[in-house]
Amino acid sequence: MNPVVDKPELAEPYMFGWLASLGLGVEYTRSQKDSLYYRDTSGDEIEVLDLVGGYGSTIHGHNNPEIIEYTKSLLDSGSPIHAQFSRHPYANDLAWTLNTILHREFGDDEHYQVIFANSGAEANEVAIKHAEMDRVLKIGEALAEVEAHIEAAIAAAASGATLDASPLPGSDLDEVVAALRAANAERAATPPVYLAPEGSFHGKLAGSIQLTHNVAYRTPFTAMAAPCRFVPLDADAVSAAIAAESRTLFDLAVDGGVIRVVERPLPVISAYVLEPIQGEAGIRVLDADSIARVRERLDAAGIPVIVDEVQSGMGRSGAFFAASHLGLRGDYITLAKSLGGGVAKAAVTLIRSSIYRTDFELLHTSTYAKDSLSTLVALRAVEMLEADGGAAYRRAAERGDKLLAMLRSLRDEFGDVVKDVRGKGLMTGLEFHDLSGSDSDIIAEQAKGGLIGYMFSGYLLREHNMRVFPTASATSTLRFEPSIHITDEEIARTETGLRTLIGLIRDEDGKALLG
Ligand code: PMP
Repeated sequence: MNPVVDKPELAEPYMFGWLASLGLGVEYTRSQKDSLYYRDTSGDEIEVLDLVGGYGSTIHGHNNPEIIEYTKSLLDSGSPIHAQFSRHPYANDLAWTLNTILHREFGDDEHYQVIFANSGAEANEVAIKHAEMDRVLKIGEALAEVEAHIEAAIAAAASGATLDASPLPGSDLDEVVAALRAANAERAATPPVYLAPEGSFHGKLAGSIQLTHNVAYRTPFTAMAAPCRFVPLDADAVSAAIAAESRTLFDLAVDGGVIRVVERPLPVISAYVLEPIQGEAGIRVLDADSIARVRERLDAAGIPVIVDEVQSGMGRSGAFFAASHLGLRGDYITLAKSLGGGVAKAAVTLIRSSIYRTDFELLHTSTYAKDSLSTLVALRAVEMLEADGGAAYRRAAERGDKLLAMLRSLRDEFGDVVKDVRGKGLMTGLEFHDLSGSDSDIIAEQAKGGLIGYMFSGYLLREHNMRVFPTASATSTLRFEPSIHITDEEIARTETGLRTLIGLIRDEDGKALLG
């Protein structure tokens, strides 16, 4: 048999080649808490401090002992993992636990129904599909009302009402009704549009990728799904976008013995989607006042808000829902990543009862969603956050403050290299100045290619046994999303690695960085 190394790479081979070229093609063989381990060429186990945290999926750390113990007990007990279309009381327990937290953090007692999914992107697709179904049903309800008004107009005409056909063609009521129905059929088929703040990232499935601002990820698939308008987080800009998308349906009204053609709004914007702390855009905490003003405009236009807490939720911000810091209660809220306890693939979409369409439950299902293993692990992961009066949230805030203070001190000391430091709780980022004009060809080239953050990642791994990655759509920002168990010593270690990195950037030592 050929040794494994002789097999050509077939599993996403380009990605592996690229990672290997930056020194990132390491195979990790063990993980625990905030550490990943690999074996070097002499077989020794090397510990790596993991600040990527599974891209936000390990708020409890890698292989958290309590979660592992619990998962094992579920497997040992023969828990029926795949028993679709049966009673799932644990799913209801998770739904109730999430509702209890939601009511506490938002000070409101409206219930949210919960739909189960497998990934963050899917949870967002659940939300946009439900919002679209709601929009289509509302258009159907509006058309039914128009039909009732047509009946009323015909009755009024029979009793002598006169007709003002403008702006439709036709001189008698039959012709006008035919023109109105034809125009409405065309208008009702207007495809939906989504709105989202610039920089948004909501996943990479066919629908959600259109809500992801990154042009490289999105544009090959623009023909596949409804488009999104990316709008600055500014109330007037949002109002302008709403006005630009405003459409109407024709209707008839009888007023003072005259049948008139009138117009009524046609809902075109299906939803407004945002992350309370933008992750892949470079860790950007959205501004509470701006959101409140935007929300007013959206409410006035009847546009629902989808709050994507896939990365920011599960306690990372110091509260279970990052949007609770902003006073933003979404009509839809999505969770994934750390919901799976670092072990399972779990995701949920919470939908406000007052907008919930019950038929949706049959329209979005998945073989794997709501299985006992992922749902029970998710429930345990949430309960662990809630334990001891929410000690985990306090810890996320305290650890996050410490990490942020360290990063800010680097920014203050090396302002010529570090452009900005941002974040909240354990969702923090450090942005470097643009290096595309560097005297080092290596640095300038990597910066122009949008890969500079990955080169820094390779350096930190090679020289400091630190795993740090840039954010997906803003690659000159390094993200730091460790677990709530990160220690002072690990934060100090992070500082040491970053200081050396910053020194090399300052010296424009591209060779040392690339290795
Ligand atoms: N939404 C946000 C805010 C995310 O950060 C991500 C992943 N980075 C997603 C959605 C997509 O989640 P998944 O990778 O589980 O599909």
